[in-house]
Amino acid sequence: MREPWPAAKITPWYCPDFMHYTPRTGHIRAAGSGIVRILTDPAGALQAARTPQRRSAMRALVFDGELRVADLPEPQPAAGEALVRVLKAGICNTDLEIVRGYMGFRGVLGHEFVGIIEHAANPALVGKRVVGEINCACHRCALCQMELPHHCTNRSVLGIQGRNGAFAQFLTLPEENIHLVPNSVKDEAAVFTEPLAAAFRILEQITIESSNRVIVLGDGKLGQIVAQVLIQRTKNLLVVGNNEWKLELLRGLSIPAKHSGEPIERGQADVVIEATGSYEGFPRALELVRPEGTIILKTTVAHPTAFDLSLPVIHEVRIIGSRCGPFRPALDALARGTVQVAPLITDRFSLTDALGAFERATQKDVLKVILEVTRDA
Ligand SMILES: [Zn+2]
Ligand SMILES: [Zn+2]
Repeated sequence: MREPWPAAKITPWYCPDFMHYTPRTGHIRAAGSGIVRILTDPAGALQAARTPQRRSAMRALVFDGELRVADLPEPQPAAGEALVRVLKAGICNTDLEIVRGYMGFRGVLGHEFVGIIEHAANPALVGKRVVGEINCACHRCALCQMELPHHCTNRSVLGIQGRNGAFAQFLTLPEENIHLVPNSVKDEAAVFTEPLAAAFRILEQITIESSNRVIVLGDGKLGQIVAQVLIQRTKNLLVVGNNEWKLELLRGLSIPAKHSGEPIERGQADVVIEATGSYEGFPRALELVRPEGTIILKTTVAHPTAFDLSLPVIHEVRIIGSRCGPFRPALDALARGTVQVAPLITDRFSLTDALGAFERATQKDVLKVILEVTRDA
């Protein structure tokens, strides 16, 4: 029997579209940008909402130099945070890179999830099915003041930096990071909200016209999603990858796809999205982009590599790093079915078998591996 949570003492704010819940400091997320502060918490009501002590244990996949399934104490939500019971979570390349040393992270892995709110300051949120943005900002530093909370100097990032993640029965996140999942979006699809948002980030960073020639390098999880988002902007799109069955999935969606061994005209693409998950993709992107074209970099890997950067100087290529993106268009796309994520799920494992899930996720014949956390609840 769980202890009852204290009743909320503040009036929450909702965005007009009510999809984005913004209870703590009254932030409203402006489309395509950061956060606009419209209300603080003058009464300090949130501080008054005490967090009860939780004593139960939960199962989690922990990385502390090696991966192991362990029993940890249930996390205690700090003021302004919600406690989420995780239903399902997705394994991402970033998780695999963390195990190889990326970010030097130690703790519970996982940042793609769907769950149920177990506790929040607003009782109306309790029991709701949600997804959550992974960057937790301080709202005080210079970058937060510039409305760049994703780049907050003091940020923690779910399962990646300074905050335990989603491969566990429970996680905590600031309530302002939480988004309600439309009823029409199934749990397994909702797990894709975070990577799909990362695809929509590209459209916040550059304009893609229907006349633009776009090449997506990489036929993996992210490349597939990016291609599905960008094909809606230009039909002049080509995905280049190494795996015939993954390329066939794209062709099944009427997205042109070629094997990387096939000849492709050099220096012709207006935009190249590098989503190979390997640094070998960047030199290829430099070959394919036209002078004064744009390369969007999506790959993050554990080990740095040296590049000859004279070519992008000579060709005046614009290189844009691209990370996390807006959840709202991602949830909309899932709700409307304009992006197909179900075919990307290769396998499902229970949290208890998370080590097996990780091993599976490293294999070549795999796209998304889902952890079914509720099986262990
Ligand atoms: Zn990810
Ligand atoms: Zn900050």
